[in-house]
Amino acid sequence: MTAMDIAVNLARIRTEIAVACARRGRDPATVRLVAVSKTHPAEAILAACAAGQDLFGESYVQEFLTKLEAVTAPVQWHYIGHLQSNKARYLPGEVTLIHSVDRLSLAEEISRQWQKHGLTADVLIEVNLGGEASKSGVDAVELEPFLRQIVTLPNLAVRGLMTLPPYLDDPEDVRPYFRRLRELADRMKELALPGVTMQELSMGMSHDFAVAIEEGATLVRIGTAIFGEREGR
Ligand SMILES: *Cc1c(COP(=O)(O)O)cnc(C)c1O
Repeated sequence: MTAMDIAVNLARIRTEIAVACARRGRDPATVRLVAVSKTHPAEAILAACAAGQDLFGESYVQEFLTKLEAVTAPVQWHYIGHLQSNKARYLPGEVTLIHSVDRLSLAEEISRQWQKHGLTADVLIEVNLGGEASKSGVDAVELEPFLRQIVTLPNLAVRGLMTLPPYLDDPEDVRPYFRRLRELADRMKELALPGVTMQELSMGMSHDFAVAIEEGATLVRIGTAIFGEREGR
C-alpha cells in the first residue's frame, strides 16, 4: 500500500461510515474509527496520520512499543488484542482504552498497574457471543457476575463491551451478534453498577462495519480495508 492508497481507503471508509449512520439517523460523530495497524509498519501509520487519522489499534505489546517510538505524531492508541497479564505494565499512559478485558486476573492486574501511575484504566469487556471455545471473551451469561466482581477494582472503569463475532462471509449473518451485544449492554446499563458506564460498543471490522454501525457500534476496528492484507502472524 502506498500512502496514497491508504488516504483513498480512509476517505472511502469515512464515507461508508457516514452512509451507514444516515441509514439509522445517527450522527457520524458518534462512531469512531479505530485504524487497526497491527503488523503494519510505522510508515503506514504515518501515512494514515497525514490523511487525518488519529486513532490506532494495536494487538501485540512488543510491536506496539516499537511503533510508539517511531510515531511521534499526536495520536491515540487503543489496545485491542489478547493481553497477557504480565504485559499490562507497559500500557498505562500509553493507551486510552483496552478493548479486550476477558478475565478477572487481567482486570486486577490492569487496575494494579494503572494505580501505580495514579491513573484509572478505561476498558471494555470482551464478550464471546459465538460460544466458540477457541475464542477469548466472557460468555454472555457470565457477564453480569463478572461485572459485579470487577466493579470493586479501584483503578478500572468499564466503558462498554466489545465482541469479535465468528467470521461469516455475508455481513447480514453477523447482524444478530451485533444486536445481541447492544442488548447485553442495555441490560448491563440498567444494573447501574458503580464505575460502569456502557457508552461504547466496539464491534465491526473491515467486511461488516456498516452492519455493526446500523446496530449501534460506537467504535469500529478496521485494518485490512485501510492498510491491506496483513503479513506474517
Ligand atoms: C485484527 C483485528 C481487527 C481488524 O480486522 P480487519 O478484518 O483487518 O479489519 C479488528 N479487531 C480485532 C480484535 C483484531 O484483532
